[in-house]
Amino acid sequence: MHHKLLIIGAGAAGLVAAVTAKDQGIDAAILERNDRIGKKILMTGDGRCNITNESTATGAEDELAALSGKFHSNQAGFPVSVLKQLGIRQTIDFFSGLGLPLTKLKEGMMYPMSLQAASVLDIFQLALEDRDVPVYFNTIVEDVIVRAEHPRFTVVCKVVTEEVEEQAVYTSDYLFLCTGGLTAPSSGTDGSGYTLAERLGHTLIDPVPAIVQLKVQYANMKQLSGIKLQGKAHIQVNGEVVRSESGEIHFSESGLSGPPVLQLGRNAAYHLARRDAVSVIVDLMPGRTEEELVDFLEIHWGIFGHRTVVDSFIGIFHKKLVPVLLKEAGIDQQPYLLCQDLSWKTKKKFYRILKHWEFIVTDTNGFANAHATAGGIDTTELIEGTLESKLVPGLYLAGEVMDVDGDFGGYNLQWAWSSGYVAAIALAKQISEGKNK
Ligand SMILES: Cc1cc2nc3c(=O)[nH]c(=O)nc-3n(C[C@H](O)[C@H](O)[C@H](O)COP(=O)(O)OP(=O)(O)OC[C@H]3O[C@@H](n4cnc5c(N)ncnc54)[C@H](O)[C@@H]3O)c2cc1C
Repeated sequence: MHHKLLIIGAGAAGLVAAVTAKDQGIDAAILERNDRIGKKILMTGDGRCNITNESTATGAEDELAALSGKFHSNQAGFPVSVLKQLGIRQTIDFFSGLGLPLTKLKEGMMYPMSLQAASVLDIFQLALEDRDVPVYFNTIVEDVIVRAEHPRFTVVCKVVTEEVEEQAVYTSDYLFLCTGGLTAPSSGTDGSGYTLAERLGHTLIDPVPAIVQLKVQYANMKQLSGIKLQGKAHIQVNGEVVRSESGEIHFSESGLSGPPVLQLGRNAAYHLARRDAVSVIVDLMPGRTEEELVDFLEIHWGIFGHRTVVDSFIGIFHKKLVPVLLKEAGIDQQPYLLCQDLSWKTKKKFYRILKHWEFIVTDTNGFANAHATAGGIDTTELIEGTLESKLVPGLYLAGEVMDVDGDFGGYNLQWAWSSGYVAAIALAKQISEGKNK
């Protein structure tokens, strides 16, 4: 079977690429190992699919400057060369054009109006049907052979169903690698895209989990499990804070999560891989400086000196947090200690822990639980702004397979949408200009 363009992977990037390419008049088809499209999309945004994030969409120049801080790559300026071609507003318009209106929830996060990730798949399914884009399911791409003349690509696949296991071979003039990274392997992403790219001469920048929970070593984690609080989390590497994020921090028996901690996951993963000393410093009172915190508690304890320390924390901290705070301050054996009897030494322990509570990070929760992969195929081997391989003409990469990852809040899907779109538009331009025939 021959197609002008073969797209490996019916994930977010591959789906946008297929729809866009077909709209540009290119005969495109998708090869997908699963028996349906977009399996990972179903898992996103807690089943609601956080498609993008409008908080940075402030107007062309501002938007790009704000957006660039949300994406990470060894080649810092690379993501912007793509995002400027399909930014947030154009993404919202793109989905509206497919018949999927979006709605905004907190912090600029945009979702399908139905708040169901399944709607995103249904819309893509309809879009592919409307355009007659074939999807070859249960088709695992195992090898790609490149020739100098057309058809340039021979794609060797294994088709696996309950009934059969057989080889299938497809040819194409152009090939898009949209195979994702290593996260959530149950969705079909086992890193085989990296192997395919490496065999074609590309370099893999070591992938690590990003947007991931952190495992910590702390004796009282069990007691803290289930607590969610608003705070600030700093990631500290070899004693130096390298990044800070605010929001709802979640405590579990094994570690820390919640948006700010997930956001710091990529930094922790990189440094753990280098065997650096990594810890998370939690600030339980981010709205107050240390001096303001001291003033606040001195006044509070002054007014309510007749109350026990435990009672003085009612309404200030989560109830489950208080016994652990007392332990940290060394007064857990004195449940009836009154505020007026607190020593200065004990108060200082409280002040320290409330602003600077250190949790030593031992590991991340791994690719199986991460939302994104940091690292991937080296972007210096791709042409900026088109995503075509500099090493293999006619090969394009889109989505998480390359060394670009985004922040929590819709930015990883945004990368998939933008890069899928850009690759398809660049190919259409290349074909119309008669390059690389
Ligand atoms: C639990 C979870 C929640 C998330 N929530 C959000 C969110 O709300 N917002 C957000 O922005 N991001 C979210 N993400 C991240 C986001 O889903 C990904 O960044 C995005 O889906 C990547 O798109 P992609 O097309 O590059 O790869 P994928 O969506 O991973 O698609 C790759 C496709 O390629 C196929 N494939 C791979 N290898 C082969 C092969 N050899 N042959 C044939 N097919 C192959 C796979 O089966 C898969 O269908 C979440 C991720 C997870 C795991």
